[in-house]
Amino acid sequence: MNPATQPFVLSQPTQAFLHQPKRMLIGGQWVEAVAGQTFAVHDPAGENIIAHVPEGRAEDVDLAVRAARRAFESGPWATMSPAERGKIIWRIGDLLLQHADELAEIESLDNGKPRAVAYAADVPLSADMFHYMAGWATKIHGNHLSLSCLYTPGVPYHAYTRSEPIGVVGQIIPWNFPLLMAAWKLAPALAAGCTVVLKVAEETPLSALRLGELLQAAGLPDGVVNIVTGYGETAGAALAAHPGVDKVAFTGSTEVGRLIVQAAAGNLKKVSLELGGKSPNIIFKDADLDTAIAGAASAIFFNHGQCCCAGSRLYVEKSVFDRVVDGVANIAQKIKLGPGMDPNTEMGPLVSSIQQNRVCGYLDLGRQEGARAVVGGQRRQGSGYFVEPTVLVDTQPQMRVVQEEIFGPVVVAMPFENLEDELVAEANNSIYGLAAGIWTHDLSRAHRVAARLKAGTVWVNCYNIFDASLPFGGYKQSGWGRESSEAVLSNYLETKAVAIRL
Ligand code: ADP
Repeated sequence: MNPATQPFVLSQPTQAFLHQPKRMLIGGQWVEAVAGQTFAVHDPAGENIIAHVPEGRAEDVDLAVRAARRAFESGPWATMSPAERGKIIWRIGDLLLQHADELAEIESLDNGKPRAVAYAADVPLSADMFHYMAGWATKIHGNHLSLSCLYTPGVPYHAYTRSEPIGVVGQIIPWNFPLLMAAWKLAPALAAGCTVVLKVAEETPLSALRLGELLQAAGLPDGVVNIVTGYGETAGAALAAHPGVDKVAFTGSTEVGRLIVQAAAGNLKKVSLELGGKSPNIIFKDADLDTAIAGAASAIFFNHGQCCCAGSRLYVEKSVFDRVVDGVANIAQKIKLGPGMDPNTEMGPLVSSIQQNRVCGYLDLGRQEGARAVVGGQRRQGSGYFVEPTVLVDTQPQMRVVQEEIFGPVVVAMPFENLEDELVAEANNSIYGLAAGIWTHDLSRAHRVAARLKAGTVWVNCYNIFDASLPFGGYKQSGWGRESSEAVLSNYLETKAVAIRL
């Protein structure tokens, strides 16, 4: 490792993890790819190689799906009581917390996010999802139904529904919250009694591999969770298309979401999608402006803007527009960029050079379209995939920087007159509908506007509030289905109706 870019000593467990050969978890065994290929994983702050992981392909996915099928049909998981399942899921949460230091370091090194953020947010939220879902394992049930059966008068029936696990689930996750997305996907699937093949993002495979070890330590039977490392176009596509997979759950770009739907059509497997966003964050002039300014900055700059729900369209009531833009720009100016492992770092690098080029491409495009950067607007020279936190103004609604998801620390700020209909129409003028923010002291307006925004989540006087008990997902092209909360369980359950003539 280059000491110039990695001045902070990694803990002994993290060093030990990084030095051990990386394998995929299939059927309870840690295995290389069948073809023996590997690919390099880079530290986005120093651009150096931190590990090599197996390059899983279709044949590896096939082995993983077969292992998951065996575990679903006949392993101990198939007959385990819900309470036993719940205890294992709970233990996974405990183990995450016990290894929080190490997991935060791995996440920071692999993804680029500040270690302190991974420690304070990613790891505890991941643990919380397992703890929350552990409770659901014993609370999944069907209903008793009273039949009328008009064409068999006088005949009594006993009828009920059963909620059954959907079967073998393929889960494909992105690189922005590698551990948390694994937790969001695995915990409810396990609570429902499914078995899983998890395909992690090629940019950030490491924390999920460590998680795999913790799943085993928690007592999860072999084959219940299989973890495949590999590229999206090969391993991911093979998983989405595999006829032995009953359901695919995907988090990632809307573009790839479409490919998943097409791939899933072969055996009409069930699909849930958590996709992109271009979320409006609306500040009314009566809001507590200092709080709203800090909130607007955090809404876009948290995780370097690499959040599907980032508050990337900032609408500000005209009379306070300059003050809010100055305030957000001022915060952006002071954000300290650096390697995630540096305790002084407030914003790390973007995850990859591809992502850096993509975001900077949008910055160039914005300038060509006539937008102006009040602050930022450039990549940072030197090593690491850094992009300056940026506030763009002078935009028009149809500009691509206003319409398209940039997935970086770039917010477009736009003034509005206090005409609610126009504001709501403008906020809803998007192919996406993932999240929205409202900042106001007017309670009636907050409820009114929240009801009219076409978004799966609306935060009022706050932003980026995640909780295992809050459903999360999108309207329109932001996705199908919901993550988190009781709502996510339906992604992993089938309803069976049983009617018995007495
Ligand atoms: P991003 O564009 O932000 O990198 P993606 O949507 O491409 O996000 O990636 C999210 C996940 O989808 C990753 O695990 C990636 O490997 C996977 N993926 C990419 N392309 C495909 C595909 N064609 N089929 C299945 N999975 C894919």
